[in-house]
Amino acid sequence: MKRAVAAALVLLSAIPGPVLAQPQDGWSSVRRPLAGAPAVIGSAAAGCVQGAQALRLEGENHQALRPARHRYWGHPATVAFVEDLARTAAAEGIGRLLIGDMAQPRGGPMSFGHASHQNGLDVDIWFRLSPERLGADELNSPRPARMVAADRLGVSAEWMPAQARLLELAARSGRVERIFVNPVIKQALCRSHPADDRGWLGKLRPWWGHDEHFHVRLACPADSPDCEPQKPFPEGDGCGEELSSWLVRPTSPAPPDKAHVQSRRLPEACRGIPAR
Ligand SMILES: [Zn+2]
Repeated sequence: MKRAVAAALVLLSAIPGPVLAQPQDGWSSVRRPLAGAPAVIGSAAAGCVQGAQALRLEGENHQALRPARHRYWGHPATVAFVEDLARTAAAEGIGRLLIGDMAQPRGGPMSFGHASHQNGLDVDIWFRLSPERLGADELNSPRPARMVAADRLGVSAEWMPAQARLLELAARSGRVERIFVNPVIKQALCRSHPADDRGWLGKLRPWWGHDEHFHVRLACPADSPDCEPQKPFPEGDGCGEELSSWLVRPTSPAPPDKAHVQSRRLPEACRGIPAR
């Protein structure tokens, strides 16, 4: 019986199919992007990216955090989005942006920290706006500004019009598909905007954590036929029942099952990419 099971397993493993990618496959240690025309493959939670571009670590209007992690890569559309948003934010006097994790040079699963950020379309942007350029020490272990009060019932004293405006600028970009924020932050925006000016709030998706940064996910770019689009979210601003359903749950910390998503099957086209 055991032998039959073993034989079946051998047979199964010989059948070509989607691969289970693990971070030890080399995704986290590869340092150069995969050569070729830019292309997003798969989804944010199971994907990779070809022809990725590095965000400049020290831009005129932004700084990249924790550069030693090598997570400042993305599809060129993501890099352009970050630079454009930072330029607009600076022009409006919002301040210099601190950019958190994007993707690894070839995307793929990360050894820690995120289940998504795999296909070069995700970027974490910090709510903390630093008037001063951060030095190397602080870039490597930055101090966040938390937008949700300690009792989790509302926004903190750090939440200012600048953060609200920054989210609005990002959400109004046609390139942005959705943005993950803590439900308490969305609630503050729903309350401060009149019903006829809340259309853009639909893109703000309530999610655990996300009170020190917001997580932008771009839509599939036109050059990427193998990019897997997201399921559409419900129409409307999401300020009603959807938001209330979140506010009765604990909104922090992140769900415990997050790590398990790393065993999601990568598309065939991502097979062996770190080793190439
Ligand atoms: Zn993120």
